[in-house]
Parts: sequence; structure tokens; C-alpha cells
Amino acid sequence: MQSVLSDIHYHSEEAAYAYVEARIWPNGPLCPHCGSAAGERIGRLQGKTTRIGLYKCYACRQPFNVKVGTIFEKSHVPMRVWLQAIYLMSASKKGISARQLQRTFNCGLKTAWFIGHRVREAMAVLRIDGGPLGGANQVVEIDETNRAVVGRARRQRSELPRTERHRCHAWPGHYRERR
Ligand SMILES: [Zn+2]
Repeated sequence: MQSVLSDIHYHSEEAAYAYVEARIWPNGPLCPHCGSAAGERIGRLQGKTTRIGLYKCYACRQPFNVKVGTIFEKSHVPMRVWLQAIYLMSASKKGISARQLQRTFNCGLKTAWFIGHRVREAMAVLRIDGGPLGGANQVVEIDETNRAVVGRARRQRSELPRTERHRCHAWPGHYRERR
């Protein structure tokens, strides 16, 4: 049995960087400062004390890594922990709280909150960039369970006079019962 969590990029920092680089730079490293592409103008820095995943652009003479311009930028959280967080947060149906991340990663609440916030931010951006669910002008079907809940909620709402309801901020134009 090969568990998903055994994948090397969840445990080795080098493998984690390689995993992210392969996705962000499918055609080789790109300089985030001047836009130079892979080739003779970009070199990998590989000194003994050099941080993992560090490159240097010989066109603009600036160092960079794959984290620049992503949710991983300017963080000291190891890349393998970022990947673990992304896996946990996207695989769990109901999401994961900062407290849960704190317990799992054995880190401070501030770090846990930061990781959770950044990962959710990336998920939200993806949803906006992806356009409407199902694509533009496409019909999206909702299963019967959801329709039943909407129907019941609507009946309950309509039994109350409007003054008893207040505007729902999550769903503009809709009202929910006052508690
Ligand atoms: Zn450059």
C-alpha cells in the first residue's frame, strides 16, 4: 500500500521545491524580476550553504526562487509543510481550522493562521480566475438534496414577515431569519 502522504515532496525539502518548480515553471526557471527565461542567462546557485531552490539571473543580476510572486513568498515555512497544508486543506470536505493546522504542524497559532489564510487566498483566486462554475453560459445542475434544502429554507423564510428577517451578507438580495 502506497499512501499519498508517503510522497517524497511531503518530506524532502529538495523534492518539495522540485515539485513546485515543475508546476510553476514547466519550461524551466523564469526570472521574476526581468522576465528572462531559462537558458544561459539563469543559473542555479549550489553552494554548500546556499538555500534550496535559489537561482541567479545573469541578465539583471538578481537572485530569486520559485516562491517569488506566489503564496509562498516571504515566508519561512518549509516548502514541504506548505504542500502538506495544501493537501490537507483541499482534501478535507469541511476545511481545516487554524487550530487544527497548529496541532498538525506543531507550530504557533500565528504561523498556522498565516498558512491557512494564504492557502485559502490561493483557492479563492483560482475560483475567480476560473470564471463561472461549469464555464460561461453553461447550465449547472444542483442535486436534489440541495434543492430540497433551498426549498425548505425558502418556505420557512416566507412564513415570517419581512421585518423579522435581515439582509444576508453572504448572499446579497436574500434575507435570513433574525436569531
Ligand atoms: Zn532577471
